[in-house]
Amino acid sequence: SNQLMAGKRGLIMGLANDKSIAWGIARAVADAGAELAFSYQGEALKKRVAPLAGQLGSDIVLPCDVSDEDSIDALFAAVKERWDRLDFIVHAIGFSDKNELRGRYVDTTRGNFAMTMDISVYSFTAVMQRAEKMMTNGGSALTLTYYGAERVMPHYNVMGVAKAALEASVRYLAEDLGKDGIRVNAISAGPIKTLAASGIGDFRYIMKWNEYNSPLRRNVTIDDVGKSALYLLSDLGSGVTGENLHVDAGYHIVGMKAVDAPDI
Ligand code: NAD
Repeated sequence: SNQLMAGKRGLIMGLANDKSIAWGIARAVADAGAELAFSYQGEALKKRVAPLAGQLGSDIVLPCDVSDEDSIDALFAAVKERWDRLDFIVHAIGFSDKNELRGRYVDTTRGNFAMTMDISVYSFTAVMQRAEKMMTNGGSALTLTYYGAERVMPHYNVMGVAKAALEASVRYLAEDLGKDGIRVNAISAGPIKTLAASGIGDFRYIMKWNEYNSPLRRNVTIDDVGKSALYLLSDLGSGVTGENLHVDAGYHIVGMKAVDAPDI
C-alpha cells in the first residue's frame, strides 16, 4: 500500500457488486489512503454496496438515481452534511435497453436513444455541476468509456454513440473546470465481465477476441483499471486533463487480427 490519496475524500458512483469496475477503483484508492463515500441506484443494491463500503472503512452509502435531478441534489446535500470538501469523484455509470445492445444500430428507438444519452452521458455533466461547488481545493473527476466510441464494435450500438458523446463531454468539462484546478478524465477500459456487460450480445466472444488480439494477449481486470484510476485521481496525474486513457491491454492500437491468434 502507498499513501498517494492520504487526506483525500472521494465519491464513488456506480458500485453494484464486487465485479464492478467501481469496486476495482475504490479498492485502489482506499488502499492509497482515500476516504470514500458511495452512491448506489435503488434500494435493492444497498444491501450489496453497504458491506463493500464497510470493507473499505466507509459508512457513507447514499442512494442516487442519476436520471433524476432531485436525486442528484439530495446525494450532494447528504455528502455535504458529512464533508465540507470533495477531492475526487468517480462516475462508473451507464445504461441502455439491452434489447438494443444486439442486432443493428440503425434500429435504435428514439426513446432508448434519449434514455441512453441521459443516463450514460448527461449524468456526468449533471454530477459535475454539483461536484464543482464542493471541489474548493481543486479536484479530479473520472468516468468510464469503451473503444466502441471510436470504432464500430458488434452489438455496442447506441452505447457506442453515447460513449463518443461522453468522451467529448470529458473534453468540454476539462476546459470549463480547469480554471478551478479540477481535472476531468476518462478511462477506456477493455471488456470486463460485469453486470452491465452481461447485457451486451456475444460478450464472451468479444472477450476472447480481445484476449487473442491485444498486444498483452490478455484481458484487463478491475485491478488494472483501479491502478490507472489511482494515477489519474492522485497527484501523479496533476498535469493530465481531458485525457482518455486506454486500459485495454493495448487493444486500441491494433489494426488487424494477430497472425498467431486462434480461430474463435
Ligand atoms: P456495473 O453493472 O457493475 O456498473 C454499472 C453501474 O451503473 C451500476 O452500479 C448501476 O447501478 C449504475 N446505474 C445504471 N443506471 C443508473 C442510474 N439511473 N442511476 C445511478 N446509477 C445507475 O458495470 P461496469 O461494467 O462496472 O460499468 C461501469 C462503467 O464502466 C459503465 O459506464 C460502463 O459502460 C463502463 N465500461 C464497462 C466496460 C466493461 O466491459 N465492463 C468496459 C468499458 C467501460
